[in-house]
Amino acid sequence: MTIDLSTPPVPFSFEVYPPKSEASTVALHETIRELAAAGPRFISVTYGAGGSTGGRSLDLLRFIRSETAVSPLAHLTCVGNTYGAAKALIREFLDAGITSFLALRGDPPAGSEDDESFLGDLRSSAELVQLIDRVQAECAPYTEAVIPGVPGAARVERRAKVDIAVAAFPNGHPRSRHPREHIDALLAKQAAGATLAITQVFFHSDDYLSFVGRSREAGVRIPILPGIMPITSRSRLCRVLELSGEELPAELAIALEVEPTPEGQHDVGVAYAADLAREVVAGGAPGVHLYAFNDHRTVLAVLRDADVLSHTIQKEAVR
Ligand code: FAD
Repeated sequence: MTIDLSTPPVPFSFEVYPPKSEASTVALHETIRELAAAGPRFISVTYGAGGSTGGRSLDLLRFIRSETAVSPLAHLTCVGNTYGAAKALIREFLDAGITSFLALRGDPPAGSEDDESFLGDLRSSAELVQLIDRVQAECAPYTEAVIPGVPGAARVERRAKVDIAVAAFPNGHPRSRHPREHIDALLAKQAAGATLAITQVFFHSDDYLSFVGRSREAGVRIPILPGIMPITSRSRLCRVLELSGEELPAELAIALEVEPTPEGQHDVGVAYAADLAREVVAGGAPGVHLYAFNDHRTVLAVLRDADVLSHTIQKEAVR
């Protein structure tokens, strides 16, 4: 399975996170089925830095792989890992048939400094990109694959070459030491073998479009997929700003502030994200990647409002 961004009309993809309980697992599986029915290029699954979600991430990736026709994409972080542990982890994912990765550094625990020993042996995601590539090359050329819909059955198949995506930061990384550092980092990730970049959340299409322009001038050639997050409540806005270090988007903040009901705030967030999606696609984005927050209704509504998803598919997918 490979990540294909070339098929019209507008390719789209989703990010979900692993379930936290048995009850949420059942609901998430249903959400995954709804998202898959819309025809995304891939569904990515986050990974807790330091391995906090390891097994649950892999279980969910296995579910996507065996129960849907969509390619799963595994986030992997290197923070806190020894070289040997990182190799073993990558091998475990490859052995489960996962062939698409988002290689990330991950963030150290809050309040800690980056030069502390828990950062581990790999200091940047570029090193993780190289390691994934190396482990894949060392693996046996054949693997056992599950046969969807036939419990317990497996077939031997040739291992697919891995696709490795990386993170990009249209407004810079909050810890960057100089304004170009995030573009230099993206160049290093490309040189290490990354084939796709997915951006951090941003709130204005110009942030993305000017970043792509600056990246291209600097020599970045890989597709840069805009990461779009529907902000459907004031509390979500606060949380996202805290985590991403992005500046408060005044227009969106005011629109959420004046909207008295949760339903109204939800509609504000959907409309804002749909406008953003429409603008970046009009500006040449190779597709849109939606942060789904494990809820299919909101992201499918964004795609419908942005005219990315046909109304027929939307009707079938959102029952
Ligand atoms: P690197 O490639 O190693 O760093 C590159 C950039 O970060 C450079 O621009 C550099 O300027 C800057 N930078 C990083 N650290 C420093 C530093 N100490 N000092 C100065 N500059 C620094 N995290 C998770 O834990 N799990 C996930 O599943 C996850 N998914 C993500 C998905 C996307 C699309 C994005 C954009 C981020 C995700 N993150 C996730 C967060 C990510 O791990 C952090 O943003 C992390 O700080 C940087 O990751 P990186 O892979 O870009 O790091």
